[in-house]
Amino acid sequence: MRPSLLDPLFASAASLPGIGPKNAQLLDRLLGGADHPARVLDVLLHLPHDGVDRRDRPTIAQAQLSAVSTIKVRVCEHRPSHAKGPWRVLTEDGTGDLTLVFFRANANWIEKALPVGAIRWVSGLVEIFDYYKQMVHPQHILDEEGLKSLPPVEPVYGLTEGLFPRVMAKAAAGALARLPDFSEWLNPSFARANGWVGFGEAVKRLHQPQSPADLKPDSTYCARLAYDELLSHQLALRLVRSKAQGLRGRPQPGDGALRSKILENLPFALTGDQTRALEEISADMACDKRMLRLLQGDVGSGKTVVALLAMAQAIEAGRQAALMAPTEILSRQHFETIKPLAEAAGLTVALATGRDKTTERRATLADLASGALDIVVGTHALVQEDFAFRDLGLAVIDEQHRFGVQQRLALGEKNAGVDVLAMTATPIPRSLALAYFGDMDLSALREKPPGRQPITTRTVSTERIDEVVAGLGRALKGGARVYWVCPLVAESEDSDLAAAEARAEDLHKFFGDRVGLVHGRMKGRDKDAAMEAFASGETQILVATTVIEVGVNVPEATIMVIEHAERFGLAQLHQLRGRVGRGDRKSSCILLYAGPLGETAKARLEILRETEDGFRIAEEDLRLRGEGEILGLRQSGAPGFRIARLDLHADLLRFARDDAEKLLAEDADLQGERGTKIQLLLYLFERDTALNLLRAG
Ligand code: ADP
Ligand code: MG
Repeated sequence: MRPSLLDPLFASAASLPGIGPKNAQLLDRLLGGADHPARVLDVLLHLPHDGVDRRDRPTIAQAQLSAVSTIKVRVCEHRPSHAKGPWRVLTEDGTGDLTLVFFRANANWIEKALPVGAIRWVSGLVEIFDYYKQMVHPQHILDEEGLKSLPPVEPVYGLTEGLFPRVMAKAAAGALARLPDFSEWLNPSFARANGWVGFGEAVKRLHQPQSPADLKPDSTYCARLAYDELLSHQLALRLVRSKAQGLRGRPQPGDGALRSKILENLPFALTGDQTRALEEISADMACDKRMLRLLQGDVGSGKTVVALLAMAQAIEAGRQAALMAPTEILSRQHFETIKPLAEAAGLTVALATGRDKTTERRATLADLASGALDIVVGTHALVQEDFAFRDLGLAVIDEQHRFGVQQRLALGEKNAGVDVLAMTATPIPRSLALAYFGDMDLSALREKPPGRQPITTRTVSTERIDEVVAGLGRALKGGARVYWVCPLVAESEDSDLAAAEARAEDLHKFFGDRVGLVHGRMKGRDKDAAMEAFASGETQILVATTVIEVGVNVPEATIMVIEHAERFGLAQLHQLRGRVGRGDRKSSCILLYAGPLGETAKARLEILRETEDGFRIAEEDLRLRGEGEILGLRQSGAPGFRIARLDLHADLLRFARDDAEKLLAEDADLQGERGTKIQLLLYLFERDTALNLLRAG
């Protein structure tokens, strides 16, 4: 049982003051897990990645150009916009004049915010335009009272479309207020030697930075929390491993009969990588050790077929198999791939999602219990207790990082010694995989099935966008289908959506109704309709923000344009690019960048031109940018590391490993003085499943 001291942190984020239902939903999207909404804890550990220094309070005359200044001004005059010009507000402070500039201004709002004659603090970038100092769209407009609540260094949070910075800040403040008093769980001398403050103090400092340097991943505050996280991870790995070593598997060699039947019916031959992976899996299943293997491979690399053949081996051995996927769409896709192949070999397969009719569900449950059903494919509905198998031999878990540890383990515990095959389309370099999944063996499908057309990738400066548009015009005449992706810009409230809308409007001028738009603020039905229109060819260009579903499959789409490619992680670009090249026609990807690019940025985009190998891309990205970017962990809410970064904190990892080893050697049940405190840590970083194992004996 979780200590009640932690209860306030496990309440939902919706319970925080000032967070209404709409924002709670956005927080869920940003921070929630597969099996829980966003909680106070998730808000606390969602640390700002940057800070805007607002301590500089110059006069207008002193204000540095292109630096963030917070200036006290008197409002002199409004010059409302006419035609398409901006709305200008003239201000002064005795040392000089400053023009505030607003595009697409709302007259009502602006006159209220800046009444003539009033004293206001404006904070933003000062620039020179036509010999005058100006500030375009001040980031803050405050009166004396408002200034008091402006933090000296304003944290910048990762957001999701529609979630505004001030809401995130409010949530963080509310969450900090619920932070209990923890007593130190680290060795005091070790913490002291590193100059670390306590856990709570470090979290607080990062949400309320005193200087932008506090937020650097190598600051003492981040290091402290990274260490906590690494320690909890090392402890959990050790606890799980020592438990798993005690757990015997049950050999299920199978006679190969079903597998050869399936192979005979396949319209293709397996690739070398598929064959190799299958041999590894087959050997694991045949021996009396329990299998815990991760199969990695890009979307389309053929993991499903491998999974099916592994499941067939379990069935040859007289057992059953289950395949669990994180969404209904993915489950259905797997089901549709597997069903004809399995049935041709005489196997029975059913689909189980949360939405099945009662009668269907009852029949499935009865058939699972009797053993009439060989394979069940479904969502996390499968881990529910009423899903009891006659004898489950193999559990396959797709996109395993999208499930909580709890759910992952639960499926493997339906029967004794169930073999577990996890699958992921996020290629992870070996060094990282070992740290994340130290308890798993790895197989990889690097090779693409034959017949795929390679994707030609080009990098093009935004300055040449006209040429790109002209090129699209030609392609559209030939019937091409095009994705045009605009990135999420988090700094400003409406600019993310505005960018996509503006682009769609722009393209509309050239291509009229052939242009569609889809973004995260659309209602589900409108989103589906926009996707549908694109899939059917009614629209030929789909302008999208990055929130569009990864699962969508439009084989006719052959061109992918990504704007501001320099802002994306490589893995993300790789995944986006993977939406074309799915049919048998030649595809291309155009990475538009806003130059000039630095050396690293150039090198990064270069890699995408060179290769379509997701593993190589991930390895290079790790080398160039660090680990957080590769997994997109913070965005995906995966139960990986929230704070620790293996590229920066590798030395801490070594200390954490030794620390964990020593601690468990002295206190294997974590019942001693330090052990009980450390239990809290396992809950905070959600490695507490390991504690359950401990209790289960
Ligand atoms: P993944 O699950 O890795 O995303 P799938 O298993 O869904 O990939 O495979 C993608 C497509 O490739 C499917 O249509 C599948 O039938 C096909 N495929 C799989 N293996 C091969 C192969 N060895 N040769 C040709 N096509 C293959
Ligand atoms: Mg798949």
